[in-house]
Amino acid sequence: MSLFRTSKNMREIVKIVSKELQITRDEAELVVATLIAQPRFEMYLNEKIDSETVALLNMKLQQLKEGVPIEYITKKVQFLDYQLVIYPGVFIPRLETEYFIELIGKLTTRTPKTILEIGTGCGAIAVSLAHVFPEAQIVATDISPTAIDNASENIRHYNLRDRVTVAQCDLFAGLTGQFDIIVSNPPYVPTSRIPSLPKSVKDFEPILAIDGGYQGVQFIERLVREGKQHVKSHGMMAIEIDEDEVNILRQFLVTNSFRTFVIKKDLFGRFRYLFVGDVKNEKSKNSH
Ligand code: SAM
Ligand code: GLN
Repeated sequence: MSLFRTSKNMREIVKIVSKELQITRDEAELVVATLIAQPRFEMYLNEKIDSETVALLNMKLQQLKEGVPIEYITKKVQFLDYQLVIYPGVFIPRLETEYFIELIGKLTTRTPKTILEIGTGCGAIAVSLAHVFPEAQIVATDISPTAIDNASENIRHYNLRDRVTVAQCDLFAGLTGQFDIIVSNPPYVPTSRIPSLPKSVKDFEPILAIDGGYQGVQFIERLVREGKQHVKSHGMMAIEIDEDEVNILRQFLVTNSFRTFVIKKDLFGRFRYLFVGDVKNEKSKNSH
C-alpha cells in the first residue's frame, strides 16, 4: 500500500499521515519530521519534496502502520542524554531504566571502580554508568551477538572503548574477578504474560530479552545467586524487576540468607528495582 502515490507538498503529507495513523496533526508532524530526520519547521521550507524522499517516507510509514517501533525504523533511541544507535532485533531501552541509572548513582555506598553489566542490549546502561562514574571500568555482556555489535557501536561512538569492555556470554559464564557493582535489566516478563504484551513488543522486539520464564524470575534468581561470587564484599547488585515478582523474590532472598536488600519504586509508583548488598541509608532494611 502506498500512502501517497505522487509527490505532494509537506502540508498534504502531514494531513494524510494524520488520517492514516489516526493521530493529531501535531503528532503527524513529529512522526514525519522524525522519519525524514529534519526539525519540524524545516520540513515546511521545501515546498516540493523529491520522489526519492516520498518513496522512502512511504516505506517507513508502512512499517509504522504494521506496528514496527519507530526506533527500529530510525535506528535511533534517546536514553537520558545519549542518542544511541539501535539495531532491529535489540531490546529498546525503556523509561524506567533511565530512572534506574539515577537510583544506582544515589544508592551506591562507594564510588565504584569496577562495574559488570549483564544483558547490555544496545549498551544504554553501560554508556550511562560510564558517565555517572567516570573512574569506573565496565564490563558489559550479552548473549545476543546482535546486541554485542550494537553495544560496541554505541561504546565506540561515545569514545568509551578504553573503559567499557564488551563480551558475549551467558550470564556469568567465563567471567572472572569481582566487581563493585553488578547491574542488570534482565528478561523478567513471565512467559504466560508474553501473549498479552503490545504487538509492537511481542512481534518486533527479541523474545530473548523479555521472557523471564515461569513467574518471570528465572534470570533474576540466577543473577542474585551466581552474582554473589562476582560482587565485592561491600559492593551491590542492582536488578530491574517487575512489581508482581516482589513477594516471590523477597521469599527467595530470605530463604537464601541475603539479609541486606531493598526494593525501590519507579516513577509510576511500581516496585521495580532490587538492590542487594551495601545500599546507602538502607542497610539491613528489607524494605518495600
Ligand atoms: N540493558 C538493556 C536495557 O536496559 O535497555 C537491555 C535489557 S533487555 C531487557 C535484556 C538483555 O539480556 C537482552 O539484550 C538479552 O539479549 C540479554 N540476555 C538474555 N539472556 C541472557 C543471558 N543468558 N546472558 C546474558 N544476556 C542475556
Ligand atoms: N518492561 C519491559 C517491557 O515493557 C520488559 C523488560 C524486561 O523484561 N526487562 O516489555
